Amino acid sequence: MVAATHNSFESAADVLVVGGGPAGMMCGMLLARAGVRTTVLEKHGDFLRDFRGDTVHPSTMEVLAGLGMLERFLQRPHEKVTGAQIRIAGRDYTIGDLSHLKTPAPFIAMMPQWEFLDFLRDEARAFAGFSLRMDTDAVDFLGGSDGRIAGVRLVDGTQVRPRLLTIMCDGRASLVRSKHLLPCTQFGAPMDVFWFRLPKEPHNGQVLRGAIDTGRMAILIDRRDYWQAAFLIPKGAEAEVRAKGVGWIRQQIQQAFPELNLGGEGGLVRDEDLFLLSVTLDRLDRWHCPGLLAIGDAAHAMSPIGGIGINLAIQDAVAAANILSARLAAGHRADDLLARVQRKREFPTRVFQRGQRAAQDRFIGAVLSGTPITRAPWPVRMLDRWPLLRRIPGRIIGLGIRHELVS
Ligand SMILES: Cc1cc2nc3c(=O)[nH]c(=O)nc-3n(C[C@H](O)[C@H](O)[C@H](O)COP(=O)(O)OP(=O)(O)OC[C@H]3O[C@@H](n4cnc5c(N)ncnc54)[C@H](O)[C@@H]3O)c2cc1C
Repeated sequence: MVAATHNSFESAADVLVVGGGPAGMMCGMLLARAGVRTTVLEKHGDFLRDFRGDTVHPSTMEVLAGLGMLERFLQRPHEKVTGAQIRIAGRDYTIGDLSHLKTPAPFIAMMPQWEFLDFLRDEARAFAGFSLRMDTDAVDFLGGSDGRIAGVRLVDGTQVRPRLLTIMCDGRASLVRSKHLLPCTQFGAPMDVFWFRLPKEPHNGQVLRGAIDTGRMAILIDRRDYWQAAFLIPKGAEAEVRAKGVGWIRQQIQQAFPELNLGGEGGLVRDEDLFLLSVTLDRLDRWHCPGLLAIGDAAHAMSPIGGIGINLAIQDAVAAANILSARLAAGHRADDLLARVQRKREFPTRVFQRGQRAAQDRFIGAVLSGTPITRAPWPVRMLDRWPLLRRIPGRIIGLGIRHELVS
């Protein structure tokens, strides 16, 4: 942490949000809507990154409906998913049903995240107090004379000092971890993910496909012109898998989805087209300190299992805005309210992380280490057999636990 020196930039904002992902953009927009002057800093120059997940759940769309934005959101390109299927050892199982949910949009909208963030930016611009600074990388915290966090220092040395609060929404590699500001518990993850594109024929039906077999897990997301593919590997096995070559990976995916033609023109041919996404699962013990709050992956890095991280991040942002807005809009500090945000959001986070840990430790780790898979685990078989039961995961994944609505 650095103390105030030269090169100072006194931000006119009341609140500084660091990170323009789902948590940061939603939080920035909601605070500005409540009349709080809010600046969001995003280190990249655009939202055009491929690897952030594509799922917008009913809970998020319920928030957008409450803001009067759902119709405009649904005009953006997306595909609707009303149920979840998975292929295990060559057999297809249906394991989730969202169609019964009593909510404005009872489906998962599969929308590339750049499109979703672009949408939030366009909507947020309608609020006078909102500003977004792209290409702005925060590298350290600023300490105030009263011991509070007073803002951040940027990579060029500029100091950004909000009047009331700094909210960290900078994801799994958050400054709160690298600067050891808040203690963090690591839960580990047995896998990483190779992320790449595969060619797609014009109409293939199912939007989201998953296949699990001995030693192999793969997911395909329909992005209209191409398949976005995820191929899970044991953690730390990147070099070993790369050594087998892209041809081997392509063959694995083709074997997992024999009904598709994945070998057409534009197929995966170069090693550099394979991006490794590292999977992390952890949680801060405390999400706040005087002058600072962390939410989203910055407070609790989520694994991709269940596709819930984006929506949990949005729910954190809604809870934070609901709890803090009135005080901040009145121009007062809200340090004494920060623990309430953690109390509100920690329970759902713990439940989902426990579920992700159970899935990765009991099943995914075993699959990737080569334990023979001859049939699906019993919960999957039960869900497939009893359609009514599928509503339970549909509700939990779709609406979350203690889901938040904008006040
Ligand atoms: C392989 C993989 C696949 C996933 N798939 C899904 C899925 O399909 N559905 C789902 O719901 N979840 C998925 N997740 C989880 C999901 O990506 C996260 O939980 C979610 O993105 C968290 O949102 P966030 O806003 O908290 O953080 P992030 O999305 O990580 O956003 C953080 C933002 O902060 C910016 N930033 C970082 N550091 C700084 C800095 N120093 N200064 C300024 N800006 C900074 C980053 O550029 C980024 O824009 C997946 C995760 C992985 C690893």
